[in-house]
Amino acid sequence: MEKRPYALVVGASRGIGKAISLRLADSGFDIGATYRSNHAEAEKTKAEIEAKGVACELFAFDVSDHASTSDILEKRFDERAPDVLVYNAGIARDNLFAMMSKDEWDSVIDTNLGGFYNVVKPIVFAMLRAKKGRIVIISSTSGQIGQAGQVNYSASKAGLIGAAKALAREVAKKNVLVNVVAPGVIETEMTDALPKERIMPLIPMGRFGKSEEVASVVNFLAAEPHMYITGQVIGVNGGLAIV
Ligand code: NDP
Repeated sequence: MEKRPYALVVGASRGIGKAISLRLADSGFDIGATYRSNHAEAEKTKAEIEAKGVACELFAFDVSDHASTSDILEKRFDERAPDVLVYNAGIARDNLFAMMSKDEWDSVIDTNLGGFYNVVKPIVFAMLRAKKGRIVIISSTSGQIGQAGQVNYSASKAGLIGAAKALAREVAKKNVLVNVVAPGVIETEMTDALPKERIMPLIPMGRFGKSEEVASVVNFLAAEPHMYITGQVIGVNGGLAIV
């Protein structure tokens, strides 16, 4: 029997990553769902994915930890590369730059951007061997246009865009496509505490986005068979940034 395609979604226990996993499961992918420490939410996500009739395996690791991340990924994907990698894990620790602690800076850069190295490198290696693959990186509108109070986060998310563009050029000839999705303000735990009344007037579509609306764009980049897109950044932001 032919094996189903496999998508590894990094940061899949909650929010946008969970919606992406469920959408890719709808498209017929078996799912590898990673998370850091929220075992209860990860188990719920796994059950919802399996209810769609595909397989789901869970991996718990901190993407900022190079040794454990690369060890787990190299061992698991030694024989068969995933067909799709979605690098979605990320954190925000907002503060005005003048007040920003070294720890606020380091933790966001080490997780969001350092995690790119720790996760994408072992996977791209396996994809190059397989001579095919799709990689989708989740950045942010903040990485495209900057956001006050988010110098650390904007730097990390802009860094991801630069990294993805450069990688796209390196691996295109081996049939590995690398693209970026840059969400605006999406309703998740990360944005629960934002002052909605101040932000809403800035969004031409007049509402926050939904995780499923990010997931449908990721699904297109990951699953659409006819594809001539690489190295691109697609904003999913209701018009918040038109770049
Ligand atoms: P959530 O906080 O809801 O979920 C984050 C996910 O990433 C969880 O699965 C979490 O695992 C995992 N994660 C966080 N840190 C680590 C780590 N160090 N190692 C491994 N896994 C980790 O985030 P969102 O769904 O809101 O955001 C998802 C992505 O989208 C992020 O990269 C974010 O920057 C980006 N984004 C979000 C926007 C928004 O408006 N929500 C806007 C623009 C971009 P666990 O459950 O174990 O903690």
